[in-house]
Amino acid sequence: MRPAQAVINLAALKHNYLLAKQLTQAKALAVVKADAYGHGSIRCAQALHEADGFAVAFLEEALVLRAAGVTQPILLLEGFFVKDELALIAEYDLWTAVHSAWQLEAINQAQLSRPIQCWLKMDSGMHRMGFAPEEYKKAWQALNASPNVSNIVLMTHLSQADEVEQPRTKEQLITFNAARAGLNSAVSMRNSPGILAWPELPSDWVRPGIMLYGCSPFEEPQAPANALIPVMTLASQIIGVRELAAGEPVGYGARYITPSSTRVGIVAMGYADGYPRQVDSGTPVAVCGQLTKIIGRVSMDMLAVDITTIAEATLGSPVELWGKQVSAEVIARAANTISYQLFCNLKRVPRYYLE
Ligand SMILES: *Cc1c(COP(=O)(O)O)cnc(C)c1O
Repeated sequence: MRPAQAVINLAALKHNYLLAKQLTQAKALAVVKADAYGHGSIRCAQALHEADGFAVAFLEEALVLRAAGVTQPILLLEGFFVKDELALIAEYDLWTAVHSAWQLEAINQAQLSRPIQCWLKMDSGMHRMGFAPEEYKKAWQALNASPNVSNIVLMTHLSQADEVEQPRTKEQLITFNAARAGLNSAVSMRNSPGILAWPELPSDWVRPGIMLYGCSPFEEPQAPANALIPVMTLASQIIGVRELAAGEPVGYGARYITPSSTRVGIVAMGYADGYPRQVDSGTPVAVCGQLTKIIGRVSMDMLAVDITTIAEATLGSPVELWGKQVSAEVIARAANTISYQLFCNLKRVPRYYLE
């Protein structure tokens, strides 16, 4: 069997979830949208069986978890798209974001098997979804008056909490607090960077995503984020070795020319697995537990690494593409993206779970 695999450490996932709770003393919805950022939403949710609840993007993602026996609250972060979804939301006892005026009407008019919990979303400055501050109180009153609504949580989303020097987060807090003045409902503002870097934000409920998977949302090292443990190890093995003289090209397009005699390891991992093709020669990789570099272009199913200085590296030697030795953030930066996208782009690689 091809040795490429993603090993998911569920103990690390639990550790990171508890860190979010400890930092905030709040209830925490573990964000497991997009198949738990590529980590497998069912297994992750089952491992977090003591979590206060989960958040996914939309109804179908929640139904997958309910079918697997997940009984905790599940919030639909993107809400519902058509009014017909409300019957299923009630039937499966889901919570939904409410971000638009048409949804207030749909909720009011629906015939539901039970009232539903609504997370009323405010646009405090991200300008993506949610009620404008001046519409917010009216929207709350409409929900509060509806017999189809069991409970309301006031929610807004931070657009720049990962940039701790920027004033945006404080401005969003001021806007949110002003608009919710006098509304007697719990609040939820904090995503991962909000949890890690902004203790002054109110938090009855927090919504950790990327931090659960052990990645820091910050460019720079940050104290609480340093305590996160990477959950995924993207691993494979060396399936070919060659000794090249100086001046020989490696891979498509001859983008790397050996500067001196070089031992090259070929690894079963490529862009069809989700490893980013954009990275340059020199991007870190670990072989037999030692750091070295990728050389030449990443191909669809394979990539090449320099094993000149790793004497024991041979056929079958273990390779870590990202994990504890090479962080996914470093690879993301090398590919001009973020770890979120690397994880979501994984495909074809079987996942194995460590309890
Ligand atoms: C995805 C998402 C989160 C989690 O964000 P992270 O940066 O991964 O912590 C929280 N809230 C909302 C509304 C989201 O869409």
